[in-house]
Amino acid sequence: MYKLSIGRFDVYSIDDDASEGGVEFLAPNADPDERAAALARHGVTGDKVQISYNPVLIDTGRQKILIDAGWGQWLEKGDGGRYHGNLHDAITAADIQLVVLTHAHVDHYGGLVGENGELLFPKASYMMWKGEWDDWASDEAIKRLEAEQNPRAELVRHFLHPLQSKLTLLTEDNPEIAPGVTAIHAPGHTMGHMAVRVADGDDVLLIAADALLHPIHIKRLDWHFGNDVDHNAAQATRERLLSSACADNTWFHAYHFAYPGIGRITRTGDGYRFVAV
Ligand SMILES: [Zn+2]
Repeated sequence: MYKLSIGRFDVYSIDDDASEGGVEFLAPNADPDERAAALARHGVTGDKVQISYNPVLIDTGRQKILIDAGWGQWLEKGDGGRYHGNLHDAITAADIQLVVLTHAHVDHYGGLVGENGELLFPKASYMMWKGEWDDWASDEAIKRLEAEQNPRAELVRHFLHPLQSKLTLLTEDNPEIAPGVTAIHAPGHTMGHMAVRVADGDDVLLIAADALLHPIHIKRLDWHFGNDVDHNAAQATRERLLSSACADNTWFHAYHFAYPGIGRITRTGDGYRFVAV
């Protein structure tokens, strides 16, 4: 695990492995030559790119909070599902008191529930954005997904519905996760997608989740990803998060950037730049 100190909080980025995806999916609306040149600047040549999975563990001293839970056993062929094995030696799944889901995609919630429906963080309670729950897991959403024959209906039933009795839904009026840990509605990737701000003293960590999938999006905010729900909202969210990440003493974390997914955002003449740790 990669450790970062945010004031008195210990924050860890956890390696849940990586998988390979096609470069078109990263930015389907990009000019292919421009996309290839941008990727080459990050050492990516050819038509495949590595996508990492980096859940975050925050130990505030009072509470151990997990931000997203990785794939679990959902991703086949040995990728992902390493979250539990890669936990800190001194912290086990039973020590996690709260799991926060940034959005309802299986690479973020697949690690929560085992094959037989058992909760893999047995003592945890859960939080997610209310709009995200409504969009994917409410009775109405399940009916819509079933009518579309969308396989997500089955995933939601298996992974999200078992959390319901221990779930708190966050809103603009109620964004606090814990003292110093706050949800920020960050729509676009999904409409209830959220980022998380961790602050103690002068130190800040902005967890951007899937607002940005790869560092090429930092230079080209207009390049969207294949599975963003609303491209305009996603672009506005990226601009807002990057602008706030430029503040002093602020670290930036992205779930899918190369592990550990942590760095600084700086302003350049025509936009922003990511400097990895
Ligand atoms: Zn994701």
